[in-house]
Amino acid sequence: MHQLNETHAPDLRSWVERANDTGCDFPIQNLPFGVCLGAAGEGSRVVVAIGDQVLDVAKALAAGLFDGLAAEAAQACRTGRLNELMALGSAHQSALRLQLSRLLRAGSQHRAALEHCLSAMTQAQMLLPAQIGDFSDFFTSIHHATNSGRLVRPDNPLMPNFKHIPVAYHSRASSIVVSGTPCPRPTGQTKPAGASAPVFGPTRCLDFECEIGFYVGQGTQLGESIPLAKAHQHVFGLSLLNDWSARDMQAWESQPLGPFLAKSFMTTLSPWVITLEALAPFRTAAAARGDDAPELLPYLNEQSDRAHGGLALSLEISLQSQAMKKLGLAPCVISRPKFQDQYWTLFQMLAHQTSNGCNMLPGDLIGSGTVSGPREGELGCLKEMTADGKSAITLPNGEKRSYLEAGDEVVFRGRCERAGYASIGFGHCSGRVMGE
Ligand code: CA
Repeated sequence: MHQLNETHAPDLRSWVERANDTGCDFPIQNLPFGVCLGAAGEGSRVVVAIGDQVLDVAKALAAGLFDGLAAEAAQACRTGRLNELMALGSAHQSALRLQLSRLLRAGSQHRAALEHCLSAMTQAQMLLPAQIGDFSDFFTSIHHATNSGRLVRPDNPLMPNFKHIPVAYHSRASSIVVSGTPCPRPTGQTKPAGASAPVFGPTRCLDFECEIGFYVGQGTQLGESIPLAKAHQHVFGLSLLNDWSARDMQAWESQPLGPFLAKSFMTTLSPWVITLEALAPFRTAAAARGDDAPELLPYLNEQSDRAHGGLALSLEISLQSQAMKKLGLAPCVISRPKFQDQYWTLFQMLAHQTSNGCNMLPGDLIGSGTVSGPREGELGCLKEMTADGKSAITLPNGEKRSYLEAGDEVVFRGRCERAGYASIGFGHCSGRVMGE
């Protein structure tokens, strides 16, 4: 795992003033990477978030501000996407982070040169940060698995394989979009309760799933597996992920395969990639598996993963209906799941996915599955919050929601906090359901 180093020091301050604000998602201890649209003729640009500004990495390189491995890493950013930086591995990525941290610190002698490389975050049109070749989505919350299972198997909600194997499915990379993209209501085949035959039409059960997505850094060759002890070397960083889901389509098509069209119509990612190194202060023990848990198979069992494989990351799900927006009501928080409650770790997911020798490419995306906790107020999707639409939630203006309606905006946020360290945030992942 990443060791703590000078970039994590809680007393570091930046000459970018807003980065020092209490509650800022992007203090100098964070330094996440993203990609935005450049000026006319510039193409896309790799940028780093600092306070309310974005730093153009290639411009800083052209100004001669990096050397050694950091310069090689910055050179990889000239492609206008993160895949080449991801492929370089952690030594290059750490070197770039260290030099960025030193350049952006209060008192830096390079402030004048760097100011020409900054622009306002509000003006940056963020794009997907990488070319995502493949996307697989796991199912790693035992609470989500139990709550979902209870709706169809009240007496035996948890499938017998759950505590043995991190379950996943291959999802669709082509329909991954960046935060802010409107979500069209998909059409598909469903079989309403009591109906004798299926029908085709717009889903009536449009849902979100609050997840964490992580990007593969250095890839692997076909036939190669990533041992659990080395999995952290292949994780570049994390973003917020909304796995939009059509529950009625999912229920009918997933017999016995799937999910398929109930998920592939769209997946939304937050634009900033929080590096694994930035998250080092917030690593924690993997969630307790309980006294009755079966022994893990050796490839999923490793002492340092049990001790440090978890991540103390608090998530927040907000909803704003069209009517709330018209009334000037802010999005209301409807849930606060915690990522440290996930039964399987990020590293177990990667070790498992490559255990058959399937190769990974830099920029491949892996979703955690819905993040749900054990308590009310910690559920990660409407299906769980409303018992599949049977008990609607109430919004601040009195509206009821079983599933999403036209004009509803869903916003996820994430924040890591630990006493003695600077808190860092993930920005946000949002999407509004299309239609009036
Ligand atoms: Ca999912």
